[in-house]
Amino acid sequence: MIVIVALCLITYLRKNKYETAIFKEPEPDFPEIRSKNSLVKKYLTPDIWNRLSRIQTETSGFTLRQAIAPAIEFDDQHTGIYAGDEDSYRIFGDLFNPIIGEYHRLPADFRHNSDMDASHISGTIDPGAPVHSTRIRVGRNIQGFGLSPGITRKQRQEVETLMKTAFNDLSGDLTGNYYPLQGMDESTRQKLVQDHFLFMSGDKNLIVAGMERDWPESRGIFHNQAKTFLVWVNEEDQLRIISMQNGGDVKQVFERLSRGIAAVQKSVKQITGRDFLFDTKLGYLHSCPTNLGTGMRASVHIDLPGWNREGFGSLKKRCQELNLQPRGQHGESGGHDSITYDISNKHRLGYSEVELVQTMIDGVNKLYKEDLELQKRHGIL
Ligand code: ADP
Ligand code: MG
Repeated sequence: MIVIVALCLITYLRKNKYETAIFKEPEPDFPEIRSKNSLVKKYLTPDIWNRLSRIQTETSGFTLRQAIAPAIEFDDQHTGIYAGDEDSYRIFGDLFNPIIGEYHRLPADFRHNSDMDASHISGTIDPGAPVHSTRIRVGRNIQGFGLSPGITRKQRQEVETLMKTAFNDLSGDLTGNYYPLQGMDESTRQKLVQDHFLFMSGDKNLIVAGMERDWPESRGIFHNQAKTFLVWVNEEDQLRIISMQNGGDVKQVFERLSRGIAAVQKSVKQITGRDFLFDTKLGYLHSCPTNLGTGMRASVHIDLPGWNREGFGSLKKRCQELNLQPRGQHGESGGHDSITYDISNKHRLGYSEVELVQTMIDGVNKLYKEDLELQKRHGIL
């Protein structure tokens, strides 16, 4: 009887979307989700758990329990889920899809569209605005390797080896060197972090999601001489491609990013025949479902002394209205400790890259104008 049921299940799953899955012993208990307000809590049902917790993905052997580890472990997650590979989005789709739909507020028939043409950007950030620097990054992952939460040690090594060769093909202003984290001189590492170029370890979400396994092996940073074009290897995504420079010339930063992405993609393709992971509906695939689509965050570091007096809560609320997101100047997990804020686009999916950059430029100009008024009100100006 059990054999017949198992065979029927396998036939059913094969016919549908699980043709590349591996089956293991069913997980007996429905997990306790500590993040009561998370989307995992909202959408994970006993039925989904019973069907999907017994499946392991083929690319990296990832499971549903691993995917939702942050929601199980912590009480403060909004989504609470990561993908371990491309397969995860398909195989665990009954959980991922409603979460993605709600988080990105997408209509069912949504299709991602990309626009990396800098000439489509209109206007610029007010030259009077106290902008220290501009940075635009995208995440990219390569076909056939697990995503950071699931990637095997061997796959991670292969990604690094591949990228070392790929970086050699970059030319012109993109030319640079790759610096592995392992063996990096501690003062060099600290300086790179301090200057906002390099990631660091210790983010609790990344750790629980399995992204710091074997740290620091196979992680590193590529950058050109001027440190205006950088690629992080094997952090939250296999690749974070970054363009940044001092001042507020967003168009120039975007133009360099656009060329850089195309050059890296071409080189990876030439070496392996593989492309970046892309889905017509979800756009570029990332380990975190909040990054799906463009995977792009365009930010400026700007002084907002007026908004600083109003408090971070007020700034956050205003940014929401403008489709922006505020962070402190030391990044997502660094807190905020000065009048300098990181202001970026809030959305990743549902809008093209150009649209998101435009939202950032227009929103920052508004915040700057409002900041002058607030400075007057608070007697700073
Ligand atoms: P990401 O979205 O790339 O993961 P994080 O918030 O983790 O961003 O920040 C990564 C690093 O990038 C941090 O050191 C942060 O200070 C730096 N950074 C972000 N925006 C800017 C900017 N406009 N100028 C300079 N550095 C920036
Ligand atoms: Mg980050």
